[in-house]
Amino acid sequence: MLVSHLAVPNWLPLDRLLEENTPLPVIRPYLDVEDCERITKQLTAAQRSITITRTLSQLPRFCPECRTTELEGLAEVGWQVLHQFKWIWRCQAHQIPLWQMPAGQKSVATEIDTGCVNRADFETLKAVERDTVWLMGAQVPALGRLRWREYHRQQITRRFGVQPPYASRDLYSLAHEIPPKARAWLQLPMVSYMDNWLLKAVRHPQGTTDPLLHLATLRICGVRACEAVLTLSGNTNDHPQTAMPS
Ligand SMILES: [Zn+2]
Repeated sequence: MLVSHLAVPNWLPLDRLLEENTPLPVIRPYLDVEDCERITKQLTAAQRSITITRTLSQLPRFCPECRTTELEGLAEVGWQVLHQFKWIWRCQAHQIPLWQMPAGQKSVATEIDTGCVNRADFETLKAVERDTVWLMGAQVPALGRLRWREYHRQQITRRFGVQPPYASRDLYSLAHEIPPKARAWLQLPMVSYMDNWLLKAVRHPQGTTDPLLHLATLRICGVRACEAVLTLSGNTNDHPQTAMPS
């Protein structure tokens, strides 16, 4: 995050540093262009960005296997950006749970437990993980939050037959498509039918820039992030690199 505090070597341009070492690639698609420019400036100036920090775990996370490999090969260890997203629970390279650094005075790191137990839970987490991993490498530009809201509305109508104006009770019912344990781990709020996570993604007047709400909405509609981005960027001149995930 403290990009300007790093000694950036000549062979690593700042835009590549932002792309490979910050959460920006996962957050950017859901921003308006002006917001994206502001947040990029904040990152470059090592200023705190609420939009960025709210997507990250409060305590640093690491994979013990990656750590061992790095210590043997490089004699030092780093923090992987992908491991710091609050909804990511395992290392993609080793397929094992991440560990979380201790809070306060405690001295022992602990293995992450998502609380998820059944296949439906894990399929949900894996879909969100898959899309997050894809976004980290796809260089998707800012597509605008209201365009995403419109996309979700069309998908919800197509898949579930829910018609405009997307009544709160209908969306509340649909929001349960994310099972309870997975919903708890992903921190998707379900306070009431007037205050649930799907309502924010589909009905909020300003839309939302929270990537998790978008990824969860794509999940219940059965759409991959790469498919949605292809559709949404179809009418613009600046096509993102849309290599399909394997
Ligand atoms: Zn690992």
